[in-house]
Amino acid sequence: MTTEYSKPLPVPINPQLTAPFWDAARRGELVLPHCRTCSNVFFYPRELCPECLSSDLDWVSASGRGRVYSYTIVHQPAHPAFRAESPYVYAIVQLDEGVRMVSNIVDCPHDELAINMPVVADFDAVTPDTTLVKFRPA
Ligand SMILES: [Zn+2]
Repeated sequence: MTTEYSKPLPVPINPQLTAPFWDAARRGELVLPHCRTCSNVFFYPRELCPECLSSDLDWVSASGRGRVYSYTIVHQPAHPAFRAESPYVYAIVQLDEGVRMVSNIVDCPHDELAINMPVVADFDAVTPDTTLVKFRPA
């Protein structure tokens, strides 16, 4: 899918830290930070493992599958870039790998949304440089 945003998107605060995530998203792949010391997989990206504080980290491929943990329908977006696609679904997705990710649910009528609904990653190339990871019903 491709969504055209009417204003510049907010950009990552630490692009070097999150570059592998965005690079993978452009390839249509979901990756997660992984600790090589204790094997913990976590999200959001951090410079230290939240489990053991190791800085020996890399990235691993994720299945892209998960379930809706929680959601709300946004009618008043907090950033003007997202005004054109309102109302949209702001959701927390529990990935099969165990981590939770904030994203959007797309291609789903709002009255069919449900907690614990199976979803799969959907990659939305919103600009030539930026692909957002969203989710749709599995
Ligand atoms: Zn660790």
